[in-house]
Amino acid sequence: MLALSFGEGGPALGEVPDPRPGPGEAVVRVRLAGVCATDLEILKGYMGFRGVLGHEFVGVVEGPAGHPLRGRRVVGEINCGCGACALCRGGLERHCPRRTVLGILGRDGAFAERLALPDRNLHEVPGGVADEAAVFCEPLAACFEPLEQRPELARRRVLVLGDGRLGLLQAQVLREAGAEAAVLGRHPAKLALLDGLGIPVFTGPAEAARGGRWPAVVEATGTAGGFGLALSLVAPRGLLVLKSTVAGAAALNLAPAVIDEIEVLGSRCGPFAPALAALASGRIRTAPMVHARFPLARGIEALSRAGERGTLKVLLAP
Ligand SMILES: [Zn+2]
Ligand SMILES: [Zn+2]
Repeated sequence: MLALSFGEGGPALGEVPDPRPGPGEAVVRVRLAGVCATDLEILKGYMGFRGVLGHEFVGVVEGPAGHPLRGRRVVGEINCGCGACALCRGGLERHCPRRTVLGILGRDGAFAERLALPDRNLHEVPGGVADEAAVFCEPLAACFEPLEQRPELARRRVLVLGDGRLGLLQAQVLREAGAEAAVLGRHPAKLALLDGLGIPVFTGPAEAARGGRWPAVVEATGTAGGFGLALSLVAPRGLLVLKSTVAGAAALNLAPAVIDEIEVLGSRCGPFAPALAALASGRIRTAPMVHARFPLARGIEALSRAGERGTLKVLLAP
């Protein structure tokens, strides 16, 4: 099958063997995949990953024969735990030390005609949700994770830093949950996606801080420098949620976090069920984020397009 892989020579398009599902795993034929900032970080060395790229997808279960979801449209959670360790048994497969992660760690990903995932990772997509929306389920689920970790965020003033894909989704999820969410970004064209949703947008830190520092800040800039900016905007005793995963490290002065007694909370992948429900409700704007769509055969071009300034989501169709 055709796949877009990352190896020693960089990203490459070519034929690879079909995935071989392990016990309790299904083969999914990919209908649509999304290029994520994490994929672009992998190209710079993040996680040291080698293999088929991609972890955001919607597809159809193809096998094995007799699979209860065969022929059904699914999305899939990307972390695959061992199922046996204490973390897995406690429901924390995402933190299993022996986990694989689709297209990120030890498991071939979604920029291919087919992928394999454990049955328990799959979620059927409701009929009313188009592929173009369902493909956002994985990043949208990640935006529900801060609310799982700190339900009180739904009742707070929250500033989201970053007007990329994640920031725009995060602000919408917080707002839907009841939070007083605002976004600080740098690109008026991207921020315009939130027009009419009742989410204030700021284009500079001074403007964002005009009403005082924020009791909660979600850092979703996708840049190593975002953490320092976030620290300067969170109020004493406030909560700072970190969502960016970047390959590079930044020198950082943590003294402000100590002085202001800031609580720092890392936040990664999230629950799929509320994300699917939000997509089915039609209340999360995803369509304007799709800036380009490429066939998998032009996958290299798709990666460079996704990395261009101002680009939100690029989709790949096998
Ligand atoms: Zn992603
Ligand atoms: Zn485990």
